Amino acid sequence: MSILLKNIGKLLNPRSDGTWDEISQAAISFDDKVLRYGPEAAMISKAGDAEIIDAGGKLVTPGLVDSHTHVAFAEPRQAEFEMRNAGKSYQEIAAAGGGIRSSVRSLRAISEDELVERILPRLNTFLQYGVTTIEAKSGYGLSTEHELKQLRALKSCAERHPIDIYRTLLAAHEVPDEYRDNRAKYLDIVINETIPAAAEAGLATFCDVFCEEGVYSVDESRRVLVAAKAHGLIPKIHADQLSYSGGAELAAEMSAASAEHLDYISDAGIRQMADAGVVFCLLPGAVIFLGLDRYPAARKIIATGGQIALSTDFNPGSSATQNLPLMMTLGCVFCKLTIREALWAATYGGAAALKCTDWTGSLNLDQAADLVIWNCDDERLIPYYFGVNLVQDVYKSGRLVVKDGKLLA
Ligand SMILES: [Zn+2]
Repeated sequence: MSILLKNIGKLLNPRSDGTWDEISQAAISFDDKVLRYGPEAAMISKAGDAEIIDAGGKLVTPGLVDSHTHVAFAEPRQAEFEMRNAGKSYQEIAAAGGGIRSSVRSLRAISEDELVERILPRLNTFLQYGVTTIEAKSGYGLSTEHELKQLRALKSCAERHPIDIYRTLLAAHEVPDEYRDNRAKYLDIVINETIPAAAEAGLATFCDVFCEEGVYSVDESRRVLVAAKAHGLIPKIHADQLSYSGGAELAAEMSAASAEHLDYISDAGIRQMADAGVVFCLLPGAVIFLGLDRYPAARKIIATGGQIALSTDFNPGSSATQNLPLMMTLGCVFCKLTIREALWAATYGGAAALKCTDWTGSLNLDQAADLVIWNCDDERLIPYYFGVNLVQDVYKSGRLVVKDGKLLA
């Protein structure tokens, strides 16, 4: 049975070119997929036996797409947050055994089932923020056994939870402690063992690498991504986050789906990524949470024709937030995105970064019926009330999963 959602004060549907289809006093009909939308009067005359639901004059958009998360972690790292605020840098904390390496120790210590139990409530939180699709990375296992454990846990979560999860292998997230003195050996394992195993088991769509001074060089990152492509995984890159490394240029060379962070991207990197159609995935939450002040050059990216995705980078170290609407505020204030650009980046742009625009991120015919009814009638209020959750109701594949801000069982 289909649903006709009527009395929508404003319906906003992003188009691929960055513009919007905007209809006042609209209605949308859907089952698990979008059937049609349009002006309310015409829609009601074709309602048939659809169940009619009143949206109360509110704003309706597609469900949000969070295209970069590290949701599969074992423990929060609040002690490091305290240390950073007392003056220690992210790099100093990492050098002392904290950072990603501390998440590796806690991840390895728990079972796959326990990890599933820790991830599931976080997926609920995403839904409550209007996020209906996420990307989720491994990268806290740093061995074939534990990287695959993380990916399998994410797969189990997706089978038990309405949210869609696109999985990314990030075995080259750090160098594990046991290979500190022999990083070449670990890279060999990633390339010859972990990537083939993850691909063969169908556990990942994408393969990511942390290309950054002190982590993996451009040459090492290239080796990882060449191997990933050979096994059918689509490249992504953490690039130019804390310093310029040339990771953006590598993303273009590799035809990556997206490159992430890009706070220090070069003009050449912007041009090459835009020309190659690589999505610019911006993560302003990590900048603010690390107490840094350099944000990516979003206006230059848009002027060059690049497509932007906004994401939380949800992770226990550098960005402990799941509030994607708040990232819209940061994108507006610090990256100078317009409000419509920020909303596009959190819907269509996120789907573009995951190569799933034919499935979600907009409300076109035959898309998954992923939509949010906001507790307002004007999209400008979403980033304006920063940190406040204005999500009222969420439909995921046509099923009501959040009502009046509360999760339905
Ligand atoms: Zn990340």
